[in-house]
Formats: sequence, structure tokens, C-alpha cells
Amino acid sequence: MIDHIRLVSIIQEIAVVIKENKELLTELDQAIGDGDHGINLDRGFSAVKEKLNGLQNKDCGTILNTTAMTLISKVGGASGPLYGTAFMRAGQIVAGKTQITEEDAVKMFDAAIQGIVLRGKANKGDKTMLDALIPAFEIFKTTIEANEGLNTAATKAAEAAKEGVEYTKTIAAKKGRASYLGDRSIGHQDPGATSTYLILKVVSDFLAKE
Ligand code: ADP
Ligand code: MG
Ligand code: MG
Repeated sequence: MIDHIRLVSIIQEIAVVIKENKELLTELDQAIGDGDHGINLDRGFSAVKEKLNGLQNKDCGTILNTTAMTLISKVGGASGPLYGTAFMRAGQIVAGKTQITEEDAVKMFDAAIQGIVLRGKANKGDKTMLDALIPAFEIFKTTIEANEGLNTAATKAAEAAKEGVEYTKTIAAKKGRASYLGDRSIGHQDPGATSTYLILKVVSDFLAKE
């Protein structure tokens, strides 16, 4: 179970890890995009980190919605509206709630992906953040349904996301700026899939240390 206070800690830790990986994400985007992914996300999550100070006592929906709005207004590019939509959709599942159950977590993850797909019109195999997110969700859901618990589910999700990042190296981009390169994008890992992996790894590390 994740309560509103731990939720704020998790999101603030995401901001720390994004900052630590700002150069990596930017370099990955320099290879197949416009070289701003790390800069974009760090700008957005730094603002989120500030905003969430003092919001610990709000419900999970408000915390996630504030995160979403801040990402949408600060990140820019393709990833801002996409991550923003993901957090917004997840927040709608837990509107007014101060606890996130395992069942909620599955629904939030699902809703987040649906939001990204609806907004960005990408599919699995297009070399985007979805190539990390969709396999992560699939194993997350199966693991929760097998009653193995949230921590195990989150660990397996992060592992699947990492494999998803590796998979993006083998395929050509069909969405986003990297798609302009066509087959020349093969061999490079997708920056957005990489940031998705980092985010899921923060969640799994956070739950593991509790
Ligand atoms: P921009 O490409 O506009 O500069 P960013 O560099 O911040 O934006 O983000 C690029 C990342 O966004 C890509 O690596 C990819 O994972 C993700 N992305 C781009 N377009 C889409 C889309 N239509 N659906 C899902 N993810 C996408
Ligand atoms: Mg970019
Ligand atoms: Mg850009």
C-alpha cells in the first residue's frame, strides 16, 4: 500500500534521479532526436519537486494531478504532454483517496498507458516510451494477480522496462523526432523509453527499501 506521503516521496525521488541522469538522457536524444530530453524532464520534475513540498497532506489524486499539470506546463516537447497525460490519468483513479491499493496501482498503470496511446498514437514497437511501459505493465498486472505483492510486481516491472529499453536499440523509430531518421535510428536506445525505465526503477527501489 502506498499512502499520499510516500507518493510525494516517490515523485520527489524521481526528480532526483532524473536530474542525475539529465546528461545521459540528453545525449541519447542528441543521437536520434534534438538533444533536449534530459533538459526537458529535469526542468519539469525540478518544478514538480518544488510544487509537491507542502502537498503531502493532499489526496493522491491532487498530488498526481499537480504533477501532471506541472509537467505539461514545464517539460514541453513530445514527452511533456505524454508524461503529463500519464500522471493525470493515473491520478483520476485515486481522486480523493489517501491510499493506493494494489488494485488501484494496476488500474493507474493501465490508465496511464491508455492516455499516452490516445495522445501520441504510438504502438508497441514504434521505439518510444511505450516499449518500456507496456511490457512493464503486463508483468506488473500478472504479478499482482498472482498475489506476489506490490514490491515484487514493481521490481519485475522495472526489469521488463530495462529489457524494453534494450529492445528499442534493435528497431527503427516510427513516432516522434527519431522517426525522421528511419532505419538510421536502429542501434540507438530510445531516450523516452530510458526515462520511463528510470522512473519505474525509482518506484521499485523505493518499495524495496521499505
Ligand atoms: P521532443 O522529441 O519533442 O524533443 P523529448 O525529447 O522530450 O521531446 O522526448 C522524446 C521522447 O518522447 C522519445 O524518445 C519517445 O520515447 C517519446 N515519444 C515521442 N513521440 C511519442 C509518441 N507519439 N508516443 C509515445 N512516446 C513518444
Ligand atoms: Mg527531444
Ligand atoms: Mg524537443
